[in-house]
Amino acid sequence: MHPTSVKGVDDMIRLGDLHEAGLLRNLLVRHKEGTIYTYTGSILVAVNPYQLLPIYTTEQVHMYTDRRLGELPPHVFAIADSCFFNMRRNKKNQCCVISGESGAGKTESTKLMLQFLAAVSGQHSWIEQQILEANPILEAFGNAKTVRNDNSSRFGKYIDINFTKGGAIEGARVEQYLLEKSRVCRQAPEERNYHIFYYMLMGMPAEQKKNLSLGSAAEYNYLTMGKCTSCEGRDDVKEYAHFRSALKILMFTDNDSWEVSRLLAAILHLGNVDYEATIVNNLEGCDILQSSHFKMASQLLEVDPKALEKSLTQRSFMTAKESVTKPLASAQAVDCRDAFVKAIYGRLFLWVVGKINAAVYKPAEDSKEVRQSIGLLDIFGFENFAKNSFEQLCINFANEQLQQFFVRHVFKLEQDEYSRENIVWQHIQYQDNQSTLDVLANKSLNMMALIDEESNFPKGTDATLLQKMNQVHGKGVIYIPPKNNYETQFGIKHFAGEVFYDSKGFLEKNRDALSSDLIQLVETSTNKLLKQAFHDVLSSSTIKRSVNPRMIITSASSSLRQTSDGKKRVPTLTGQFRQSLDSLMKTLTVCQPYFIRCIKPNDFKRPMLFDRELCMRQLRYSGMMETIRIRKAGYPVRYTFEEFLIRYRVLLRTSLCDPKKESKQKCCESICESVLSGEGDWKTGKTKIFLKEDDLVQLTAKHVYI
Ligand code: ATP
Ligand code: MG
Repeated sequence: MHPTSVKGVDDMIRLGDLHEAGLLRNLLVRHKEGTIYTYTGSILVAVNPYQLLPIYTTEQVHMYTDRRLGELPPHVFAIADSCFFNMRRNKKNQCCVISGESGAGKTESTKLMLQFLAAVSGQHSWIEQQILEANPILEAFGNAKTVRNDNSSRFGKYIDINFTKGGAIEGARVEQYLLEKSRVCRQAPEERNYHIFYYMLMGMPAEQKKNLSLGSAAEYNYLTMGKCTSCEGRDDVKEYAHFRSALKILMFTDNDSWEVSRLLAAILHLGNVDYEATIVNNLEGCDILQSSHFKMASQLLEVDPKALEKSLTQRSFMTAKESVTKPLASAQAVDCRDAFVKAIYGRLFLWVVGKINAAVYKPAEDSKEVRQSIGLLDIFGFENFAKNSFEQLCINFANEQLQQFFVRHVFKLEQDEYSRENIVWQHIQYQDNQSTLDVLANKSLNMMALIDEESNFPKGTDATLLQKMNQVHGKGVIYIPPKNNYETQFGIKHFAGEVFYDSKGFLEKNRDALSSDLIQLVETSTNKLLKQAFHDVLSSSTIKRSVNPRMIITSASSSLRQTSDGKKRVPTLTGQFRQSLDSLMKTLTVCQPYFIRCIKPNDFKRPMLFDRELCMRQLRYSGMMETIRIRKAGYPVRYTFEEFLIRYRVLLRTSLCDPKKESKQKCCESICESVLSGEGDWKTGKTKIFLKEDDLVQLTAKHVYI
């Protein structure tokens, strides 16, 4: 074992054992001492401590302000400081990509970065407070208790913070990605719906609850699927109070928050609607059982109860000549209702994000004005569950893109060091995930394009999609076709491993369509918030002109396609997601990037417990190994001439090279020439000597021998 492996080092690049086990050991040794941060070059590895550490105080903020990276022990504040410093010095936008699996600590790290930036901005201004308080609102609507994390973000986000030339925070903009809408209707065992529902039921004054006919969480189907309505260590009453005060800070009026509560209540009541099966003209259909829940739902949605019932139990479609309606069987009616609820919640979330942006985003007054910004990306990590579906494909696609971005960046850093040192070097081969990306989204007839094409094709089904994917990609090495004709699972070789996806439900999820009956229903509603939320699918005459144009989410409205009957149709999910990812990648590419790799040390949310296997797996696909592979392919071992001489001076044959007369560089070269006997692949640059791992082994062996 290399001596550095015993004690542990701040920067893993300095480890003698530059391999997986060495990295793992280093993290383990440090974790035992309660040190959660470690660098790999300029990349920060953060191991979730699962306990409050006294390392985020104002003193710590001061300590890390205006320091060079590496001057002090590794810390998330050091990364924030580096971003801030480089933004101002290089006049270049910075970004920080924070990744890791669920529960690894991405959102906490993002908040700590924000805390630091707000502190160094130092204005104690309204806008700083607004940006900080946007978080509790986003988390109320977009986070939930899951088995992996009590506060799991079920959406991705990119917060871009704008600064004045003087370095004061001036505004921010939040971009969201792919909220998990299914959670509103269904939760896995031990999981909850979004926090906001429980906050509201626990914290809302009795009178308001009465107005909305609301009871306790246990009474609602949508809140009890996971058989879990409370979350240990989370005080929903307190959180509701915080949420309400945050709304005020973000300029939501009392009326706005009341309207939001009404829609949320409507969702809960809709979830409690019951159906009764009927047979009409030999067709299976259903009626809605009249109940106070149903009455309340139509009242809150401000629609005629008859019209609501009709649009939830029938579907109209066009034949060649006319529009006909077909009854829905109760199971279909339940799906129809759930689709409506998911659409309402998803759109409400977008409306909330739009509203936050309207408060914190200050568009540049002069378009030529140079703005400085730091962007923080807190996005879902790679997922591979026992069962994977369309959502996982989208998430893993996003991760492939980020991995490509990361590898290119690391590779570039390596090249930069060689050119700084004037080293002539061969092109380094590294594991590139470009071919996976090509199959997923770049080649003609790529998988995303096929999914979209099949979604737009009226006769397309999950089975025809699978056939096409087999045809186009079946012979390649990235796509793994199903084993036989009955199998619905296909596989993809991702950079982080093979993942098998079940194609069932792909098209429906991608279409993300709402029946025209429900869209028409919303058109008849007098609920302003509901109509604003659905603005992109309603005919423009029914939306009030008062909609703030800045609140319209561009990604959802810019690529509307016309359907054959002239109605607007929302773009497919992959379409929207790809568009927002493309724009994210464009933003990231022009920034100077930083990376924080969060690691979850165990599956039990416990402090001081380090599960080696779990950590090894995360290290492997976090790209840390990639960094090392790239370094190994080049000259992984590098010392300044001075360091090298301190270490290997005993190997110098003074008869060949007199250290009193010759330069340090000459002495280093002389040692290598004699010890590595011409076979070694090593190079000297301007200030450093670059060696291969093998060279080091030889040098060390000789050293010990002497
Ligand atoms: P998800 O992908 O599910 O959103 P995440 O990576 O965002 O997960 P976090 O919510 O940031 O994970 O962290 C999970 C929990 O771990 C936090 O609620 C907190 O209890 C703990 N935690 C994370 N980072 C820290 C930290 N630096 N100090 C103390 N506790 C932390
Ligand atoms: Mg999170």
